[in-house]
Amino acid sequence: MRPRLILDCDEVILEFAGPFAQWLREARDVELKFDSSALIGNMRHLSDGRPVDPADFPALLDGFFEHGQRLQQPAEGAVEVLTALSKDFDLIVLTNIPAAWRDIRLEVLRERGLDVPVHANDGPKGRMVKELAGDRRAVFVDDLPPHHSSALKHAPEVGRLHMVADATLRGLIPAAPDAHVRIDRWDEAEGWIRDYLERAA
Ligand SMILES: [Mg+2]
Repeated sequence: MRPRLILDCDEVILEFAGPFAQWLREARDVELKFDSSALIGNMRHLSDGRPVDPADFPALLDGFFEHGQRLQQPAEGAVEVLTALSKDFDLIVLTNIPAAWRDIRLEVLRERGLDVPVHANDGPKGRMVKELAGDRRAVFVDDLPPHHSSALKHAPEVGRLHMVADATLRGLIPAAPDAHVRIDRWDEAEGWIRDYLERAA
């Protein structure tokens, strides 16, 4: 069986921070400024400067997934490198998105040139990484450190690549302690992925 590449979507394949901020401004009159990597706490109502109530955050994120995903463009090099990798490995997207909006994500990825299966997840990803890897060699790529900790716990044999595609967020997110490696650019990640999947055979 071919090795498997398990990919997060937001800030790995597609840009997220910029399009989310754009949608918040245009559709919800909310400003998102990244003074830290957190989303909650960095959002204000443009009308009066009030911080957005953390309780309102899930609805804003859902609104983006329903109405804003088409604003998302690929991270630099993502389509080219993933297309090349798909010749040798089976790609699957493992993304924390409500199941109701999974098909939009699938369509947006297809429109950007990536025809890959999309699995909608909720919460830590380690158990699903283990299930998707099965007996195969596998690498998991995600921007959020807790998912690497979860993958280490449930599927330690899977290669863990920490990538933060957004140039602004990069400096705000420290390297995930439980990942094998931190590589933020696709042109630099391809070699590590190939090497891990071949070495682990
Ligand atoms: Mg992500």
